[in-house]
Amino acid sequence: MDIKGIKDWGMNLPADQPLIIAGPCSAETEEQTLASCRGAAKAGAHVLRAGIWKPRTNPGSFEGIGEEGLPWMQQAKRQTGLPVTVEVANAHHVRTAMAHGVDILWIGARTTVNPFAVQEIADALKYHDIPVMVKNPINPDVKLWAGAIKRLYAVGVTRIAAIHRGFNTLAQKDVYRNPPHWGLALELKKLIPGINIIGDPSHTGGKRELLWSISKKGLDIGFEGLMIESHIDPDNAWSDAAQQVTPVDLAHLLDSLLNSDTAPKTDSTSNELHSWRAEIDLLDQSLINLLTQRKEIVEQIAQFKQEKKIPIVQLGRWKEMMRKRLESGQNQGLNEKLVEGIFDAIHQDSVSYQREITSQQPAEA
Ligand code: PEP
Ligand code: MN
Repeated sequence: MDIKGIKDWGMNLPADQPLIIAGPCSAETEEQTLASCRGAAKAGAHVLRAGIWKPRTNPGSFEGIGEEGLPWMQQAKRQTGLPVTVEVANAHHVRTAMAHGVDILWIGARTTVNPFAVQEIADALKYHDIPVMVKNPINPDVKLWAGAIKRLYAVGVTRIAAIHRGFNTLAQKDVYRNPPHWGLALELKKLIPGINIIGDPSHTGGKRELLWSISKKGLDIGFEGLMIESHIDPDNAWSDAAQQVTPVDLAHLLDSLLNSDTAPKTDSTSNELHSWRAEIDLLDQSLINLLTQRKEIVEQIAQFKQEKKIPIVQLGRWKEMMRKRLESGQNQGLNEKLVEGIFDAIHQDSVSYQREITSQQPAEA
C-alpha cells in the first residue's frame, strides 16, 4: 500500500507541525457555523470541520442540519481560505458534499463498523480523488478499522488518514467518554504502514477539561494531527456541549500544546495542570468505584464463609494473591512497595469488614 501522508495531500497543509482540524461538532445555523469556523481559523486551525449529517444514538436528538448547511461551509471556506471537511455516512452524502466543494471527507465511528456502508462510500469515491479520514470503529476492533482503509485504497483513494476517537468500551468509561486504548492506534500503524493518525481528544474525553492531556498523549506517541471541536458558544451547542471549547480556549490549548519551547504563559501552564488534575481526579474516582465494587463481592464471600463455616483468613490464598498482584504490578512498571502497601491495606480492610458483618449476622442454627 502506498498511502499518502497528510503532508503529501497537495493542500498546502503544514509540513513541520501537527495538522489541526477544528470547528463545531455540528453546523447549527449559518451564523453559528461561520462564527465558529472563523474563530477556529483565528485560533490556528489548518482545516475546518462541522457535522452536517449527525449519526445520533437516540432518534429525536438533533440529527444534523443536512444539505442546507453545506453552503455555510463553502462560505466558511471563502472567508478563511481554509479547506473544509464533513462527515459522510453513505453514497448520497459523498456526492452531495463533493458537489458543494468539500475538500476532505471523514467517515464516522458508527459507519466504520459497517463494511457494507464503507464499501458503499468507497464505490461512490471511485474515480474521485479526494482525501478521506477514517475514524476508528466504536468497538475496539483494529482490523475493522484497517479493513475500512483497505476498502478505500482498493478503489484508488490514496490520500487517507485515520482518526483515533477512542472506543466504546466499559473499561475506564467513568473517566473517558470513549476510552483511548492507545495500543490499538499503534497497532493500526503496524497494520497499515505509512498511515497518519489524527487524535480526536474531544470524542475520546467527552469533557473539555481533558482536551489538553489527551491531545498531549496522542502527540507524544506520534499522532500527526488533532481534530478538536470548537464552537462560538459551547455551552449552548446543539450537540456535544460538554466537550467543545470557545475559539479563545482553543487558541490557548494549541499554544500550550504546540509552542512548548516558548516561555509558558501563566494561563497555558494552568491549562496543562488543570487538564492533568481533571484526569487524575476522574481516575481516582474510578479507583473508588472499583473498591466499592470489590467490597460488594467481599460481602458475598463473608456470607458464604459463614454459612459453610470456613475461616475468614486463608493464608495460602492470601500469599498467592499478593504474589500475583506484585508480579502484575512489576510487569506494568509500578513500584513494588506501592503495590504491596495498597493490597495489604485492602486485604486488612476486607478481613475486618468480613469479621464485622459475620459477627453481626451469626450463622443460622
Ligand atoms: C463527530 O466527529 O462529530 C462524530 C460524530 O464523531 P464520532 O464518529 O467519533 O462519534
Ligand atoms: Mn461531536
